[in-house]
Amino acid sequence: MFDIQNIRSQFPILSQTVNGKPLIYLDNGATSQKPASVIESWEKYYTTINANVHRGIHTLSQLATEEMEVSRRKVQKFINAKNDFEVIFTKGTTEGLNLIAYAVTNFIKKDDEIIISYLEHHSNIVPWQMLCERTGAKLKVIPMDENGILQLDFLDQNLSERTKIVSLNQVSNALGVINPIEEIIKKTRANSDAMIVIDGAQSVPHFRIDVQKMDCDFFVFSGHKMYAPMGTGILYGKEDILRKISPFHGGGEMIATCSFEKTTYAELPFKFEAGTPNVGGDIALGAAVDFMEKVGHEHIQTHENALLEYAQKKLLEIEDLKIYGEKAHRTGVVSFNLEGVGIASDVGMILDKLGIAVRTGHHCTQPIMDYFNIAGTVRASFAVYNTFEEIDVLADGVRKAQRMLG
Ligand SMILES: *Cc1c(COP(=O)(O)O)cnc(C)c1O
Repeated sequence: MFDIQNIRSQFPILSQTVNGKPLIYLDNGATSQKPASVIESWEKYYTTINANVHRGIHTLSQLATEEMEVSRRKVQKFINAKNDFEVIFTKGTTEGLNLIAYAVTNFIKKDDEIIISYLEHHSNIVPWQMLCERTGAKLKVIPMDENGILQLDFLDQNLSERTKIVSLNQVSNALGVINPIEEIIKKTRANSDAMIVIDGAQSVPHFRIDVQKMDCDFFVFSGHKMYAPMGTGILYGKEDILRKISPFHGGGEMIATCSFEKTTYAELPFKFEAGTPNVGGDIALGAAVDFMEKVGHEHIQTHENALLEYAQKKLLEIEDLKIYGEKAHRTGVVSFNLEGVGIASDVGMILDKLGIAVRTGHHCTQPIMDYFNIAGTVRASFAVYNTFEEIDVLADGVRKAQRMLG
């Protein structure tokens, strides 16, 4: 049974008022709120077992190490990775993508090609541009249409033995569009030897992931968008590729032996986890996985899809409101503007006065905004604790903003 009041009661922050109104938190695409179980896990770590991992012989260090490895195995199961050492703790999607783009440098030559899509977050654009600068490789971009749907015939024309990386998100953070990654991965495998990188920052919070079935080479996501603390994230990589590529950061924890003449690297996953990790956060990420498993992916998805459908219906009843990517297959996000009415941030400010938190602006996706020739959008994004009543209040708030700004 899915009991929304029970779910809401697990999120302490939701019972607050903001500007004198009950908080309506619809900025989950930027970061989700945290359930008590995650906050308690983090607190318990710092009040009972805080110690540095791997080095210490003492009891607390062993406990901390053990708990972190338990969390790694929870994530392994959560995304169905074959081995626990294919799961690497990072501080988020951005770090994961930069790690990959740096670690593959030696495999990229001048005139090789890297394919991304029009729908990417800046963190899945800039690291590849930097790689191109280092190596002389070229960046190619899968175009989209006015509904935010990627034009896959571009792949038929552009995949070749020169293609070394194909990197794209499973769900667009700006529009909520779900990209047909299964089809893209199939096409890529059939026509190139490219490594396939999937940015799962906006898909992991909403639906079940199976990296083996997906057959990607890398899959990255952030903990903080799936109910875990900030400063946590995961890089999954296939074993054979992780063994081949170079470490990103050098330092403590990632060496097997270190001398001035030669250093050898530690085994997976530690080769990619230099320095002291965010132990408390990484353990709490395991608690976030437990939370999602306990609620159940089917319940999360059914509820969020119903919210999305309802929000789209309610918002489209408002005259002169345009939803971007309206006709695409979507999840978790409605991105819209009031035509002829001020700028997105004015709408966001009025909504804030009503206790409603939305994001306004370019959402770290300036190319998409340029495509539509706009500066930004208003984005409402959903999590499992949002309600239909909250969407009614949102729609009323948008009408009010339209009256005030029109
Ligand atoms: C949020 C987001 C990122 C960046 O994640 P960080 O947690 O800020 O590192 C990358 N890609 C997408 C699709 C995102 O939504």
